[in-house]
Amino acid sequence: MAVNQAELSRENLIFTGSEREEKQFQRERAEKMSRVVKYAAKNSPFYRRKLTEAGIDPAGIKTFEDLQSLPFTTKEELRLAYPLQAQAAPDDEVVRVHSSSGTTGKPVIIPYTQYDVDTWAEMMARCLKMTGVNRLDRVQVTPGYGLWTAGIGFQAGVERLGAMTIPTGPGNTEKQLEMMSDLGTTVLIGTSSYGLLLAEECSKRGVLDRIRLRIGIFGSERWGERMRARIEEIFAIDTFDIYGLTEIYGPGIAIDCPYHHGLHYWDDHLFFEVIDPVTGKVVPDGVQGELVVTTLTKQGMPLLRYRTRDLTRIITEPCPCGSPYPQIDRIFARTDDMIKIHGVNIYPGQLEHVLQITSGLSSEYEITITRKEGRDSLIIKVESTEGPEVWEHLGTSLARNIKTKIGISAQCIVTEIGALRRSEKKTKRVYDLRKSEL
Ligand code: ZN
Repeated sequence: MAVNQAELSRENLIFTGSEREEKQFQRERAEKMSRVVKYAAKNSPFYRRKLTEAGIDPAGIKTFEDLQSLPFTTKEELRLAYPLQAQAAPDDEVVRVHSSSGTTGKPVIIPYTQYDVDTWAEMMARCLKMTGVNRLDRVQVTPGYGLWTAGIGFQAGVERLGAMTIPTGPGNTEKQLEMMSDLGTTVLIGTSSYGLLLAEECSKRGVLDRIRLRIGIFGSERWGERMRARIEEIFAIDTFDIYGLTEIYGPGIAIDCPYHHGLHYWDDHLFFEVIDPVTGKVVPDGVQGELVVTTLTKQGMPLLRYRTRDLTRIITEPCPCGSPYPQIDRIFARTDDMIKIHGVNIYPGQLEHVLQITSGLSSEYEITITRKEGRDSLIIKVESTEGPEVWEHLGTSLARNIKTKIGISAQCIVTEIGALRRSEKKTKRVYDLRKSEL
């Protein structure tokens, strides 16, 4: 059947931003922000109360500097607004809800209007396009479908772009590999942990020559350069780091381009600030801190200055790809991930960095913290690509590097590839056993 010419050009309708005129764009952006503040104050019971209590006159918020006078929104507050007190759109316009899980207490329910669902699909389609996905690609979507997860967000983006979705959802590695090889999947979407598991499985079974993957898009957990290199090497693909959080649409609000200098974010729909997580002050561009997001066009549940708890920085240098969409750095850590050992605050990302600069080690590691007689002890297990004869030596040099770079002592155990647990979802890397021993 002949393909309609207009159909073929659909991919070109995804807004790449290349046409935008910067001054006008920024003016319109400030107007969007000013509108969303008024809209939230008027229509969301949660924001009406919050802004009144803070003594904010929504009509006075016109510039992004003005926005800094607004209080932050936290996940705890949204939990207390359960189930739908933060909803701003009328009920007859809400077409879907998602929910962000919480380890304790009530979850946050996020209502979406049709416009929100469409905006999310557009942003996701841009993400895919940025990585080079086109209409001939076959995209295997391994994140889950349902209340808690965003499989549907990926699928909507793939369909908007016009590529083929293979909606396998999570788990069932057997079926995943069968689809991947029989349908000739070219793009794999999931967590990096699952990407690694599938890559290792294909390698183990000797079926890599039947795999036609060219792109991997991974998100929902932080993953280091070592892991990236390992997945890329086994599958012989390029990989991309996709960012997002359920409270703000879901995954697809930022992604890295083929230059991998940072993650481009869609600033026509979102305003990003980076703050000092302790003082709450906005830090200068380029300085690391906590990402704070304001949605500029969201209707179902707009968020004003939402604290993401993700640590990153705004990248100021323009990207060689020429995209006008600004960039943040890859997420360094979540503020929740901080571990206190011997009175020193550290993030798993810092340890990951040391693993990276210690040669002979692979991507997978596990941190165990115990406390005996009031003393914390840190044990790091890490996989190595080298033979067992050098493991002891590698362990010693890793311990030395950790002492020099982070200033703490650790017992380092080096082991073979595949010895540590693999996950179909997110890999748990930190086991803090101190609480149970107190
Ligand atoms: Zn770029």
